[in-house]
Amino acid sequence: MKNFPARLIAKKRDHQALAAEEIQDLVDGVVDGSLSDAQLGALLMAGFLVGNEDRETVEWTRAMRDSGQVLDLSDIPGVKVDKHSTGGVGDKVSLVLAPLVACLGVPVPMVSGRGLGHTGGTVDKLLSIPGFRMDLGPEEFEALVRENGLAMSAATDAIAPADRRMYATRDVTATVESISWITSSILSKKLAEGIDALVLDVKCGRGAFMKNLERAQELAESLVRTANLLGCRTSARVTNMDRPLGKAIGNSLEVEESIHCLRGGGPQDLREVVLLLAADMLVVGEAAAPEQAMGLAAAALDDGRALERFRLMVEAQGGDPRVVDSPKEVLGVAPVQRHLCAEEDGFLEDLDPFEMGWTALELGAGRRTAKDPIDPQVGLLCRKAPGDPVARGEVLVEVHARREEDADRALDRLRPLFKIGAEPPMLSPLLLATVAAPD
Ligand code: URA
Repeated sequence: MKNFPARLIAKKRDHQALAAEEIQDLVDGVVDGSLSDAQLGALLMAGFLVGNEDRETVEWTRAMRDSGQVLDLSDIPGVKVDKHSTGGVGDKVSLVLAPLVACLGVPVPMVSGRGLGHTGGTVDKLLSIPGFRMDLGPEEFEALVRENGLAMSAATDAIAPADRRMYATRDVTATVESISWITSSILSKKLAEGIDALVLDVKCGRGAFMKNLERAQELAESLVRTANLLGCRTSARVTNMDRPLGKAIGNSLEVEESIHCLRGGGPQDLREVVLLLAADMLVVGEAAAPEQAMGLAAAALDDGRALERFRLMVEAQGGDPRVVDSPKEVLGVAPVQRHLCAEEDGFLEDLDPFEMGWTALELGAGRRTAKDPIDPQVGLLCRKAPGDPVARGEVLVEVHARREEDADRALDRLRPLFKIGAEPPMLSPLLLATVAAPD
């Protein structure tokens, strides 16, 4: 490093903003190892406590993005747009959204993550389709975006290596929950994909990273400001994660539900979030005026164009395209299926998404540590959502398990979650806030 690390750490500690060259020097030190773990931990804590100015967040994002491979898709005509969600339970939106937006003329280069903890990941969901490959190299990724208008790939170690070390260090130094560090972490990876525009879905509620609306809105604003300052046209929605999205939680179950949505059906809340984000992508992608975008997206779901683009993508990435017509046969089903039934009449009051996510994880649908294997077929299928009327004896949720004892444990955990009340509950809205792209 050109600067003494301790001098830069002291500067941040003493409430002085770091210059662009100083931030670049620190990021170089993160990647080449000349910044020690102790120094990185101290720096992250100083930034956490003091905060970073907007221009510092921009410089951290830029330097972290450029610490690894940055794709160049500028040869592909059109405004290339991706979507990023901060993660939720039952969030299978990407599987529907990418082919939907692509079939309406906006190229979608989508790089996704694996699930960790109670939230699932798009990579694990798509890998439950037999043969589907997400380890696309940069050439293949670019060729698929050019030919089919979309490619869905897993993030590789070559993207933003500075973030990998910084995120791992934040995890063990109690510095994850900083708006500035979260902003640069998320955007460094997204902006390395060669996109021109981005739509964000910041989840808010018990099942999300951001538990309250104030923090979720603050994060959405920081992400939108920073991405736009770096030349990527970006807008955000804050959406509800105080209940699971859709009915399916678990990888193949979520693929099947996504296919229903791509056929114009599926749960209403999933369709609503898909259409909202699709409209945003069409607008930032310059493919539709704001007042037309949602109608165009709805028509492409209802007339099968989005479904056909999904089929094309599955085939192009080595997956079995028959999944579109016969999902259960191709994806397979878990050997044990058990039901939790209502013991009284009334209305389903609430469904804690965090608890639902952990129950699915414990069945094998998710991973506690990055190395855990995934069981694609296990999970939960909610037959009732909060607000639905229920009659005694009706099925509330299906448990899909590998073994009887796993199903028993899941049912014990689920029973207290499904609270039945005499009156319909007041439900918070699906869309909680919007942060528009600047004019
Ligand atoms: N996701 C990321 O990629 N980074 C963060 O800091 C938080 C969530």
